[in-house]
Amino acid sequence: MLKEFSIIQMNDSHGYVEEHWEHFFTGSESEFVKVGGYARILNYVKMVRKLKNNNVLFFDGGDTFHGTYPVVNSEGEILIDLLNKFNLDAMSAHWDFAYGPKKFKELLSNLNYPMLAINVYDKVSDQLVFEPYIIKEVNGVRVGIIGIAATIVDKVMPKHFSEGLYFTLGNKELPGYIKKLKEKENVDIITVLSHLGFPQEVKLAKEVAGIDILLSAHTHNRMYKPSIVNETIILQSGCHGSFLGHLDVTYDFKQKKIVAYKHELVVLDEKILKDEDMEEMVNVSLKPYREVLNEVVGSTKTDLSRSLVLESTMDNFLLNAIQDYTKAEMVFSNGWRYGAPIPAGDITVNDLYNIIPVNPKISKVKLTGREVWDMLEENLERTFALDPYDQMGGYVKRAMGINVYFKIENSFKERIQYLFVGQQTVDLDRIYDVAFVTSQGVPTKYGKDRQQLDIRAIDVLKNYLKSEQEISAPLINTITAI
Ligand SMILES: [Zn+2]
Repeated sequence: MLKEFSIIQMNDSHGYVEEHWEHFFTGSESEFVKVGGYARILNYVKMVRKLKNNNVLFFDGGDTFHGTYPVVNSEGEILIDLLNKFNLDAMSAHWDFAYGPKKFKELLSNLNYPMLAINVYDKVSDQLVFEPYIIKEVNGVRVGIIGIAATIVDKVMPKHFSEGLYFTLGNKELPGYIKKLKEKENVDIITVLSHLGFPQEVKLAKEVAGIDILLSAHTHNRMYKPSIVNETIILQSGCHGSFLGHLDVTYDFKQKKIVAYKHELVVLDEKILKDEDMEEMVNVSLKPYREVLNEVVGSTKTDLSRSLVLESTMDNFLLNAIQDYTKAEMVFSNGWRYGAPIPAGDITVNDLYNIIPVNPKISKVKLTGREVWDMLEENLERTFALDPYDQMGGYVKRAMGINVYFKIENSFKERIQYLFVGQQTVDLDRIYDVAFVTSQGVPTKYGKDRQQLDIRAIDVLKNYLKSEQEISAPLINTITAI
């Protein structure tokens, strides 16, 4: 007997409740299209639910409660009523821990669906902090959903994200849960809702048998078709709520497996109508912020985008502004993946917060040439480690004032071939004057005389825009793969 149902995936929406610009590659050019928004997401999900007689599961892969000013400013609160309209089935998490685990649990207590994780433990009791799995019956098919949160929360994120908690990879725990669900709970299909990142999840699917569907997140992959690894269907659906993954599944009770599937990466562009009630709710929740956020504070000649792994125009704008303010010899910031692009033209306050929603204070530190080298090697390893389980980065750390030439394929500590500061070869024994933002920019183990300046990133960006009027921030080969 064949039974059909659908899975819809949203992941890494990063607080983008409204339509916004998104970057698309088209040949040698970049194209910017207005897409996304909760109103389009809800309308699409409603449409599929109607079409499939409600035989639909809808999952959120996490990175939901962070990334835009209204969401960060309200510590996620403005999303609660909106998300509850989606009737989601479960979520995973990463940046959602940004206001501390206690606050995250409080947000979750107001949601009408659970957060699932087999890999988040209380430091004192060693007990799981979230439900490990749920079971949903959809068109007669029993689907077990097992959650895995981002393992990096207690490893590379700011300390307060993981207060009182520790995170594992989940790969050791997963086989036990699959066995339990299959043997004791009579589940037909195993779905893993993960926020480990695509390379990590491919390895997970290779080493753990019995995952039918793996909903991937974190690395912002736009998977126009799923990957099949060890008979596991893996999908991930971009970021910023600009896309949804739509998977139609046919399950055969006789063969006890998925015998057919159809997939679409749905681009939430103008072809998808907006749910009017949701649009109104979003408008109401954003109203208190509009006046501040809509102010035009400058303009850019360069399209500002974060889509490239080695260097980005958006971060060059940020780093140029910090360097202009601090006069430091070199500047570092984290290689964030999220942040909707800003096409050439006006820049609003809203855009500035999309670049750096945490609005940290600018910091300074003294680093030796050796420390700069070691810090960059460590960062390249976290981004490009041959073993995906060792990959803990976003994109490569963003930098200004240096030029790095490196070999991606080399092993840890062997990647950097040349490092220049200004036009000079780095002096490993010299002490350099460095500016940065966040502990991800320059981790605390590096450097001396660390100090926070009494100015925050947004003000530095605003001042820079005021003095420059129109900025440009082209790529200048700061980090080059050779
Ligand atoms: Zn993430």
